Parts: sequence; C-alpha cells; structure tokens
Amino acid sequence: MLFDTLNTERIGGAASALGGGLRAIDLAVEYANDREVFGQPIGSHQAIQHPLAEHYAKLMAARQITYEAASKWDDGEDCGMEANAAKLLTSEFATEAASQAIQTHGGNGFTREYEVYDIWQNMRLTQTAPVSNEMVKNFIAEHHLGLPRSY
Ligand SMILES: Cc1cc2nc3c(=O)[nH]c(=O)nc-3n(C[C@H](O)[C@H](O)[C@H](O)COP(=O)(O)OP(=O)(O)OC[C@H]3O[C@@H](n4cnc5c(N)ncnc54)[C@H](O)[C@@H]3O)c2cc1C
Repeated sequence: MLFDTLNTERIGGAASALGGGLRAIDLAVEYANDREVFGQPIGSHQAIQHPLAEHYAKLMAARQITYEAASKWDDGEDCGMEANAAKLLTSEFATEAASQAIQTHGGNGFTREYEVYDIWQNMRLTQTAPVSNEMVKNFIAEHHLGLPRSY
C-alpha cells in the first residue's frame, strides 16, 4: 500500500516538472520573438530555435509516459516502472529546458523578473526530491530489468 502511494507522488511530481519545463519553453519562445539583437529577433537563429525544439520534443515524449503511468494507476494496474521512468525523464528534461531558457534570455536569465532562473532551481530540485534519480534508477534496474539489488 505504501509503495502504491509513492507511485502517485512520482506521477504528480512528473506532472509538476512537465509544467515547469513547458513554462520555461514558453517564456524562452516569447523572449526569443521579442528580443532583437543586430536588427533581428534572436529567435530567427537556428542556434536559438533548435535547442528549444529539442527540449520541447523531449518533454512531449516524457508527457506520454507520465500519462501512461497515470492511466495504469487509474485502471488499478502496476505502474511502478512507468511512474519512476516519468519522474526520471521529466526531472531531467525539465531541468535541461529551464537551463536552455536561461541561455535564451542572456543576462536577463539571471534576474528574478524573468522567472526562468527560479524555474531552473525548482526543476533541478526534482532530480533529488521527493526521491533521488539514483534511487529511481535503482528501482528500474532491480524491479524491471531484474538486476541484483545494489544497496
Ligand atoms: C525540498 C525537498 C523536498 C523533499 N520532499 C520529500 C518528500 O516529499 N518525500 C520524501 O520521501 N522525501 C522528500 N525529500 C527527501 C529526498 O527524498 C532525499 O533528499 C533524497 O532521497 C536524497 O536523500 P538524502 O538527502 O538523505 O541524501 P543521501 O542519502 O545522503 O544521498 C546523497 C547522494 O547519494 C546518492 N545515493 C545514496 N545512496 C545511493 C545508492 N545506493 N545508489 C546510488 N546513489 C545513491 C543519492 O541519490 C544522493 O544523490 C525531499 C528533499 C528535499 C530537498
């Protein structure tokens, strides 16, 4: 019963990280469209566009496994692997997305006014809380792959 409860915490945490990561992308896109340097919006450069597109695609993939975990939970099925994978992927992808959003904002990325630095801090925390990603990987390795318990 306790482990089932922890799965809901992982699913909720994954959904929260997804929201943070997508918010960071939204803010970066808005800024990239507005900010002009050398006479053109910085968002017109592929060096700005491609990382944002890549992080968005990763978040979309992580969203699918988060939905799968939630759907299995709703159906009363074992969702341990999906819940842990969702937690792992969303925390890493959301942190990367927020970091890229900071880069897109240049120096403004480090000010409170533009929000992205605060988002990064919160997303980075999701790699450690409510459970560290190392323990998530230990779970998948032991319970899903069938490797020996490592701790
Ligand atoms: C803001 C915040 C909110 C939190 N909320 C919750 C919560 O809601 N519920 C909850 O249960 N906990 C919560 N935690 C606690 C969180 O689960 C722990 O901080 C986390 O599991 C790491 O444990 P620790 O801090 O004791 O570090 P330690 O156990 O000292 O570990 C330090 C580092 O070593 C790694 N490590 C340790 N043992 C192994 C191993 N066998 N294999 C691989 N790596 C290992 C850890 O992953 C970590 O990176 C929260 C923590 C924070 C900071």
